[in-house]
Amino acid sequence: MKTIGVLTSGGDAPGMNAAIRAVVRCGIYNGLTVKGIMRGYQGLIDDEIEDMTLSSVGDIIQRGGTILRTARSAEFKTKEGRAKAAEVLKKHGIEGLVIIGGDGSFRGAQLLSNEHGVNTIGIPGTIDNDIPCTDYTIGFDTACNTAIDAINKIRDTATSHERANIIEVMGRNAGYIALYAGLAGGAEIIIIPEVKFDIDEVCDKISYGIKRGKLHHIIVLAEGVMSGLELSKMIQERLPKLDLRHTTLGHIQRGGAPSVMDRIIASQMGSRAVELLLENKSQRIISIRNNQIVDDDIDTALAMRKEFNFKLYELSKILSI
Ligand code: ADP
Repeated sequence: MKTIGVLTSGGDAPGMNAAIRAVVRCGIYNGLTVKGIMRGYQGLIDDEIEDMTLSSVGDIIQRGGTILRTARSAEFKTKEGRAKAAEVLKKHGIEGLVIIGGDGSFRGAQLLSNEHGVNTIGIPGTIDNDIPCTDYTIGFDTACNTAIDAINKIRDTATSHERANIIEVMGRNAGYIALYAGLAGGAEIIIIPEVKFDIDEVCDKISYGIKRGKLHHIIVLAEGVMSGLELSKMIQERLPKLDLRHTTLGHIQRGGAPSVMDRIIASQMGSRAVELLLENKSQRIISIRNNQIVDDDIDTALAMRKEFNFKLYELSKILSI
């Protein structure tokens, strides 16, 4: 193996840059030529490829986003699109491809490997933490830190006005950001897709808190359940006197300087991706499980199911009484 490529695909996440830096620097350290593919699979099809040097990844470990940009590509979902992508890889002599992205990007990698024999290694990068094979994805920790920073600020003003606040967080169909940020931010109520939603239970808890003399009610809502506005309307129908506001955190959760944890796991995963390619391994997804960097066959990884941490959810309920 002489030349490898790296791309970021799907939703961006803080820490992707740290992973790119690790792939490039570990690749060069091991005598490889490393090429950066811009704009994910679409940039690959369009032949947007640049040579990476040690300095092209200088000064990026602390930056959110991805210097390689990211994109979604409908063309790559077609056989013809993937054939074009394989041709471009061949033209540049790229023998191994590192894909930093979510499970959609990994499905694309699986097809590229199966149809064209491309050596692919996947690194999980998404703030949603919804990839089954890994305990943590790159970007999740930073997104949770951003969310608790917002919760802290909203709590200050909620307490002053003795208000209730709904804070809608991201996570797509998963409730990980809501659960972790809600627990770490001391939220009174956490609403996530993994647990059946019961509006009466939510309102009873708010009423109980008011009787108990609570000065604020922080309700962390995962976007996969409903919007903050919808929940606000449902609560106000039942508790019309409640002073209630809602805030949607939105894309601030996707940006910002990556946390220590995200920088460290991204660096380890990027390094492992290069090692695997040098060991002539292909179609692997890198994960962190029980604090160890591990890798699985892509078919096995994509077939895994994530066990939701219900114990943590139960704990959040006990601690928020
Ligand atoms: P993520 O990787 O964050 O889950 P997406 O699901 O949007 O994000 O996937 C990113 C890109 O990966 C898509 O735009 C598409 O080019 C490619 N992709 C996703 N799913 C598939 C699939 N089933 N087959 C081929 N390519 C796919």
